[in-house]
Amino acid sequence: MCRHLAYLGPPVTLAELLFDPQYSLVRQSWAPRDMRGGGTINADGFGIGWYPGDGDPVRYRRAQPIWSDPTIAQLAAVTRAGAVLAAVRSATVGMAVLDNAAAPFAEGRWLFSHNGVVRGWPDVVVPLAAGLPVRDLLTLDAATDSALLWALVRQRLRAGTDPAEAVGQTVADVAAAAPGSRLNLLLTDGRRAVASVAGHALSVRAAAGSVLLASEPHDDDPGWRPVPEGHLVTATASEVRVSPLPTR
Ligand code: GLN
Repeated sequence: MCRHLAYLGPPVTLAELLFDPQYSLVRQSWAPRDMRGGGTINADGFGIGWYPGDGDPVRYRRAQPIWSDPTIAQLAAVTRAGAVLAAVRSATVGMAVLDNAAAPFAEGRWLFSHNGVVRGWPDVVVPLAAGLPVRDLLTLDAATDSALLWALVRQRLRAGTDPAEAVGQTVADVAAAAPGSRLNLLLTDGRRAVASVAGHALSVRAAAGSVLLASEPHDDDPGWRPVPEGHLVTATASEVRVSPLPTR
C-alpha cells in the first residue's frame, strides 16, 4: 500500500521533510516499515504537491521510484513550502503505472491522495461512478480506484461540502459498496488537512505551530500518535481533531 504525508507549518525545504528524516517518505519507498494488503515497496511512482506562498499548489509526479529521479532530489533541496502533500505509490495489481496515476490528484487549491484499494474494482463502484458527470469520468487522471475516489470527493467539494464531510461521506459510500476496501484518504487545501483511517495506519505529530499526518512516523520523535482505525483527522497547523468516521 502506498505511503502518504501532509505537512502544515512554518516553511521547510522539501528535502528536510521528505528526504532527511531517518524513516523519510523517500526511505519508505524502498523500506517501508508497515505495509499491509500486499506489496513490499513503493516503487510505482511518486508525487509531491506544495504551496508556494498563498498561491495554488505546484505538483511534480512521476511513474518511477522516487529514489531514481535525480531532478526531485535537486528540486527538494532548494524548494521551501509551509504546506505539502506527498505520496509514494505501490500500484494495485492490474492498475496502470503512469505519471497521472500517482497522487497527489489536484484541482484549484486541493491536493488529494489515497492509500489503499477498492475491493472488487471496478464493478462494485459502477453505481457510485454513475452518479458523476460524464465529463469527470472521461477526464479521470487514470483508470484507477484512487482517481475515482478523488472524483467522488471533488464532486462534493465543488458542491461546497465541508472537506471533512466530503472525505467522510465518500469513505462511507465506498465502504458500503466495496466491503473490505482500504480507504485511507488525505486531502488538503494548504491551510487544513483531512485524513481518514480506514484499513491502514496513520500517525499524527503535532508540534508548536506545525502538524504532520503520515502513513508511518518518519522518525523516533515521541510526539507521534497513531490514529485509531475508523476515525477521521482534521488538522490545521495549530489544532488537531479526531472524530469517528461516519457510517451509512
Ligand atoms: N490502489 C491505488 C493504486 O493502485 C493505491 C495503491 C496503494 O495504496 N498502494 O494506485
